[in-house]
Amino acid sequence: MKTSSILHIGFDDTDSRKGMCTTFLAYKIVEYLKNERVKFLDYPYLIRFNPNIPWKTRGNGAVALKIKTDKPESIKKNIIQFIKKYSAIKDGANPGLVFYQNEKIPIHFIDFGRQALCRLINRNKAKQFVSKNGLESFYLGNGQGLVGAIGAIGYAFDDYTYELISYRNESNIGKKREIFKDSVKKMQDLTYPRTFNSFDEEKNRILITPHGPDPVFFGIRGEDIDSVIHGKSLVRSPEKFDGYMVFRTNQGTGAHLKNELDAHNLKPFSSGYVTGKVSVVPKVEIGGHVIFSIIKDDQQIKCAVYKPTGLTKIAFKLIKGDMIKVGGGIRKATKHHQRILNVEFLEVLRLEKNMKAVNPLCYSCNKRTKSKGKNQGFQCVKCAKTFPNKIFEEIPREIECRLYVPSLSAHRHLTRPIQRVGKLNNNIEFDDSRKWFHISKSRQTGNQKLEVKIKTKPKH
Ligand SMILES: [Zn+2]
Repeated sequence: MKTSSILHIGFDDTDSRKGMCTTFLAYKIVEYLKNERVKFLDYPYLIRFNPNIPWKTRGNGAVALKIKTDKPESIKKNIIQFIKKYSAIKDGANPGLVFYQNEKIPIHFIDFGRQALCRLINRNKAKQFVSKNGLESFYLGNGQGLVGAIGAIGYAFDDYTYELISYRNESNIGKKREIFKDSVKKMQDLTYPRTFNSFDEEKNRILITPHGPDPVFFGIRGEDIDSVIHGKSLVRSPEKFDGYMVFRTNQGTGAHLKNELDAHNLKPFSSGYVTGKVSVVPKVEIGGHVIFSIIKDDQQIKCAVYKPTGLTKIAFKLIKGDMIKVGGGIRKATKHHQRILNVEFLEVLRLEKNMKAVNPLCYSCNKRTKSKGKNQGFQCVKCAKTFPNKIFEEIPREIECRLYVPSLSAHRHLTRPIQRVGKLNNNIEFDDSRKWFHISKSRQTGNQKLEVKIKTKPKH
């Protein structure tokens, strides 16, 4: 009897702005693996890495699969062919693929995944990692995809959500997606908060569909497998889709903002949070963006809140001395700007009292007094009583000690929606009896075989 091996497969950066998609490639590979009757040991991972790096494609998402097979060598060869066939190399994709054949993921993999979430990682570091650990890998282009490929295998969830992604029939790719708006709205009404970010009530807009020419039809985000499958069943469209796959993902977890940034060493393109006191009051800039500064360990940090986030009206109400926590990405310094933290969430921890000097009230008449002239005190208009000085009055604050997150339409994949605050999923076991992968009946049979032939040796 053949012994079987556990194989981790990670890949990234196969997509481009023009139309391919790493999750679609994953769907194709899983279909192939299902036909090969391998045993799946977990749901496919869809890992979003640092959204604040300059060369990401649309979502900076990588995929990892964990399987058990008795023929790892032929599986690996064929997956390389899939990467070659389905990567948008001509459109600037730099795909990377990594295999790790062992049950347990070592700590240095996990460290790498953690770093890729919050930092800018150079592809050479990934190449070094591959050679140092003797990993089997494959890449095309400059190999930037190796970063996500390693990181996805090593990603250690402390919280996760799920996304069911459905894919279009090949003949429909590039055509307008027709989905009945009412059905999405109703789906959200029936399944929220078990599903989330499907429909923007405020803007009356569907959020489950991408807009580009990629093969994704729609995606339903949620807290568990059953909810996203139920959600999908409620979406109505005249278009028949090809099939779907459910991913375990770090979307909606805010994972990239959980580490504290070093105020004295803000690395460009890193993500995280800082806690500090407002030191320069907010100012509205052209375009409606709000700029302010906080101070942390004697270090002043400039923060920018962009108008589309919907957080500007909150930020504008901050005053000197307010203690806040801000999360976001560090923008590189330019000729005109120092390093800036682009705010992705704002939590008010302590509000300073807003005191304003005003003319005193006459205590007998309960009337506001009038100034008698510079340094001459104040006098009641009714009884003529005089008072020497102005008094301080507290102006009510119009913001509260709480967390403020961007408006729905400004959410990024990793943004933690407000209803997920304090929520953690970390004990949902893999259940292969759940219908996490599905090819629809409308798909013609016969085109499911691996069409590519192995021609060249993989480059290392
Ligand atoms: Zn009076």
